[in-house]
Amino acid sequence: MLRCLLIAALTALVAAVNAPANAADVPATVAPISGAPGAPSRADLAFEKQFGDEFLDAYWAMNPTDAIAAGYYKYADKLIVPDEKSRNEQLAFIERWRTRLLSIDPRSLSDANRADWAILDNQLAASRWDIVDLRTWQWDPSVYNVAEPFARLLSTEFAPLDERLRIFTRRLQHVPAYFDAARLYIDDPTIEHTQLAIEQNQGALQVFGEELQTKIDESTLSAGERRTLTQRADAARAAISGYVAWLQSTAAGLSSDKATSFRLGRARYEKKFFYEVQSGESAQALYARAVQEKTALHERMSMLADQLWPKYFPNVAPPAERLDKIGRLIAKLSEQHVSEQAFFGEIESLIAQLAKYVTERQLLTLDQDKPLKVRKLPPHQRGVALAGIDAPGPYDASAATWFNVMPLDEMPAERAASLLQEYNRWMLPILVIHEAIPGHYAQLVYANKSPSRIKALFGNSAMIEGWAVYGERMMLESGYGDDTAEMWLIYSKWLLRSVCNAILDYSVHVAGMNEQAANQLLVREAFQSAEEARAKWRRVQLTSVQLTSYFAGYAAIYDLREQLKREQPDRFELRRFNEQFLSYGNAPVRIIRELMLR
Ligand code: ZN
Repeated sequence: MLRCLLIAALTALVAAVNAPANAADVPATVAPISGAPGAPSRADLAFEKQFGDEFLDAYWAMNPTDAIAAGYYKYADKLIVPDEKSRNEQLAFIERWRTRLLSIDPRSLSDANRADWAILDNQLAASRWDIVDLRTWQWDPSVYNVAEPFARLLSTEFAPLDERLRIFTRRLQHVPAYFDAARLYIDDPTIEHTQLAIEQNQGALQVFGEELQTKIDESTLSAGERRTLTQRADAARAAISGYVAWLQSTAAGLSSDKATSFRLGRARYEKKFFYEVQSGESAQALYARAVQEKTALHERMSMLADQLWPKYFPNVAPPAERLDKIGRLIAKLSEQHVSEQAFFGEIESLIAQLAKYVTERQLLTLDQDKPLKVRKLPPHQRGVALAGIDAPGPYDASAATWFNVMPLDEMPAERAASLLQEYNRWMLPILVIHEAIPGHYAQLVYANKSPSRIKALFGNSAMIEGWAVYGERMMLESGYGDDTAEMWLIYSKWLLRSVCNAILDYSVHVAGMNEQAANQLLVREAFQSAEEARAKWRRVQLTSVQLTSYFAGYAAIYDLREQLKREQPDRFELRRFNEQFLSYGNAPVRIIRELMLR
């Protein structure tokens, strides 16, 4: 089952931000002359032998759905029925590999392998915890959905169409058994995840309809093969529809006061935070810090607003309430933005400008050979996000890295206008800093220089998001945006979003915050639109911990930097810090910290 072994959101994110590491990129583990300095230790060789391709192939065999997402198609025709038997097999797999992992002493490994060791140790423990303790397979009906891998088999040209349709046919065989198991094991689901499962599985039907028929028509499959495929696709549609109907009747019987809560509660939240964030801090400590940061940001924003008020509202008295005053200034500044037509070109020129800036200011060395290409967001990926990096998965070496931008001229005018205000003259550069330079794009170019499939596949999302958020602050501190009060005010609003995401997530899952209070936090205290707040409320009900990763990673990276500055006042150099930090790939900040402080 997808989420049993991999934390799905994490993997999707990591897969999305990681560039290729094909076989040719991975250094051969050829032992240098014995005794030469830098020769890999015996432990290194043992680790690389077992936890290179051997582990991953075994892992993909256990998790063929995740393998398809990673671009590994060897087991693509296997659909695992999520029953007791397969969960026991997963647990046995975890035990087997953990035993092998623990037989290697991490202290005898090179830095790169030691980080991989720690990532695997955490990954295996987290997977076990998910199956045995968190038990999403029991209360979250949305984990049961077969559509995405089938859609990928149709749309990704990893093999000729006929061959892909044959894989598709074999994979279809167990879809009815898959949903039988889902119905058997779901027990006391949450109302929210049941609703989500109904919506998503209704959408899933599409994959087995017209799109499939078009592909069958294009193929040269025999009449017999077509018949089998069509029959199995019909059976799959019936199984999905049956599941949806069953969920609908289940949902009708759920009452909001008796159903399982979507809230994780303190103990499970702390544990999940421990496995996913790995910042070396507890969730509770991070929450306390976020609350403090919010207060500090409000104070700073109020001072900036006082400075700016006479310039933008001459001869008008500011509102008595601090938050009103800040909100009005942000709204005023948001009127300054590029036109709809200029938006795309502005992002292209910002990328070039930021590359030049970080180079001239010696903040980070950029790889000139890996240019980032800007394009319109492909239609099937359009949804909420305005812009983002789209990098190929670890098994897809040759593909380009794209900066996807939502074409504003193809959106409803009202929505486009509100996005232009949000990504105004000061906010748009921060967005590009976060997504591209020195944020996600620059980070993944560095990550690829320490080629490790383990880090690419199981990398830490708090490190990845934290780096992008840290990068914003580092740029402003270096004088980017000319140190103006406008730039700092809009930046503060952006940072407030990460801070309030962390506050919201903890408050909702641990302290029982309701929608009204959440709305107060997001709209009133973080200056977000009603629409953004609504979407966030939905997200916090359906996910947990993920929303804290931005602030958690940022705080941990910032602390590490400040500590090194204090400890090495004469030797500290920002560029060296940045480059060394990035050189460990997507490892958790806790591990990078250990390696850098050693
Ligand atoms: Zn990000």
